Amino acid sequence: MTHIITSLCVRDRGCIDVCPVECMIPGQPVAEWPWIYIDPDTCIDCGACVPECPFAAIFPEDEVPSAYTAKGGEYITNVGLTGHFEGTNHHGHPIVLDVARQLQAGEVIDLTPDIKPNYDFFKGGPGYGAKDSDDGM
Ligand code: SF4
Ligand code: SF4
Repeated sequence: MTHIITSLCVRDRGCIDVCPVECMIPGQPVAEWPWIYIDPDTCIDCGACVPECPFAAIFPEDEVPSAYTAKGGEYITNVGLTGHFEGTNHHGHPIVLDVARQLQAGEVIDLTPDIKPNYDFFKGGPGYGAKDSDDGM
């Protein structure tokens, strides 16, 4: 199995440094790959990243919710969305995302389509090569 980062990710980067096998890679270019991605072939399912995420965006693959109920105010980020998110990441660097949408309280969304991009990123996508163009955002 593997752990999966979902579209609740806003690139805060709080998770990356705790991964013992260094398999969490910031997507690049951001408009096409807005999340941090977990290499499913390398992840050892240790679970260390889960409590590090302030946005509760990380799940074991078989626990990714198909009916996530929004608290209200949190963001999802995904290719094709046009909303704007600004914040600061774990290292104090600014985060600007233009593929975001703020959720309404009680809105129910299916996060299971987010599983596939974690695989696609490493199979046919930029994969570990994205580290070469990582700008810290
Ligand atoms: S800590 Fe959460 S929001 Fe931040 S990069 Fe990791 S998965 Fe994304
Ligand atoms: S579950 Fe463990 S090995 Fe997998 S991405 Fe998270 S920290 Fe890394």
